[in-house]
Amino acid sequence: MVRARITEVDLRRPDLRRPFPRQFASRLTGQTVLALTRRAKYLLASLSSRETLLMHLGMSGSLRVVSKPRSQIPDPKAQIDPHDHVVLHMSSGKAVIFNDPRRFGVMDLVRAGELEKHPVLSRLGPEPLSDEFNAAALARACRGKKTSLKAALLDQRVVAGLGNIYAAEALHVAGLSPRRPASILATPAGAPREAAFRLAAAIKRVLEKAIARQTRKDYRSDRFLVYDREDEPCLKKDCAGTIRRREQGGRSTFYCAVCQR
Ligand SMILES: [Zn+2]
Repeated sequence: MVRARITEVDLRRPDLRRPFPRQFASRLTGQTVLALTRRAKYLLASLSSRETLLMHLGMSGSLRVVSKPRSQIPDPKAQIDPHDHVVLHMSSGKAVIFNDPRRFGVMDLVRAGELEKHPVLSRLGPEPLSDEFNAAALARACRGKKTSLKAALLDQRVVAGLGNIYAAEALHVAGLSPRRPASILATPAGAPREAAFRLAAAIKRVLEKAIARQTRKDYRSDRFLVYDREDEPCLKKDCAGTIRRREQGGRSTFYCAVCQR
């Protein structure tokens, strides 16, 4: 997409989770993509119009790139895949197709200068893989917090873009129970305790490993240490525990009660 122009936009429905912005297709058509970046779970395409196309894949969304000729691009009337909701035809000869069976995805257009003020981006904490995110930042954010460690990690103001699965994985790697209060990471003055160093490092490690996989083909197999492994043995060396599942704030949390304290 980068340095290519959007030559045509096929919108195959009026909305995803929310309606598409006003005149969405015409505001995209003719614009060149200057850069593609990411903030938390939002994908950001800066356009030559000085607007930014903001995209979120939701629970089930994906983007795929196909080469023209057009015969390869699913015809809306043929209903090859009824979940192909948006097709961006690029001047490079490729088409970028947004597919989303459950339609929890989001697409929005944001004017230059308003990106940081956008409701979904304005309250985000640091990126977990940035230098800005470390034990000190984590402890500052969790100082005095009575919520659980698990809930704190899902709070996007504490750390941006960490979801249910990797929060559980990181707590396991750090050897911390998801049910303990978040305040244990900090001294009363807000300085990081040893657990904060372990957890910040575990978050980075878990995400780096996940990114390195780059493929979804083993999405549910041996990819996870605790997630979706209820009643299976703990994989930590020398641990005889069994992975448990608990509801926490409406989400499933997986953990080992033996090695996660
Ligand atoms: Zn264990």
